[in-house]
Amino acid sequence: MADSSYALLTLDDLEEGQNVFSLELHSEDLELKDEFFTFHSLVKAEVKVRRSMDNFNLEGVVSCKIAGDCYRCLKAAEQAVEARFHLSVQRRQASPEELESAEEDGYIEIVDPGTRQVDIGEYIREAIILDLPMRLPTANVEGNCPQCGEDLTEDSNKDKQEETDPRWAALGKIEFSSSEEST
Ligand SMILES: [Zn+2]
Repeated sequence: MADSSYALLTLDDLEEGQNVFSLELHSEDLELKDEFFTFHSLVKAEVKVRRSMDNFNLEGVVSCKIAGDCYRCLKAAEQAVEARFHLSVQRRQASPEELESAEEDGYIEIVDPGTRQVDIGEYIREAIILDLPMRLPTANVEGNCPQCGEDLTEDSNKDKQEETDPRWAALGKIEFSSSEEST
């Protein structure tokens, strides 16, 4: 697992009510890797914590940049990724059943009454991984590649209208004109 001990949240540094803090992490430390793109080193996290006694409600926004080659034009493409996570930290005594259901839930972490720090690195990492695009680049609002301007929406229509593939259309034309000549 990622060594994320730099993403520690010190519970008693937080005041009752709303707290905001930001973290700067490194993608290497978060062990962010992907087959198709590289991660910029800097990963930023903005975390809002609402504290009520020993309940800490976290809302995080994580941002980083990824780089790779456009799958259409093969030019270098860069893209910002913004991911969100939510976590509820409860510092209290809990039964094994409660701990188990909190673990299943994935958004609740129950920690011992004596706990001073909670590591949120794994939540940041997961948030990014869940929000990664399948490939680069993601089309702009017009549905085109932001680098080469090629229409990236085409792929989603392909299964619906195979007959419009330009290669087949060209073949059809050749056959038609040659048969015309022979008559
Ligand atoms: Zn492109």
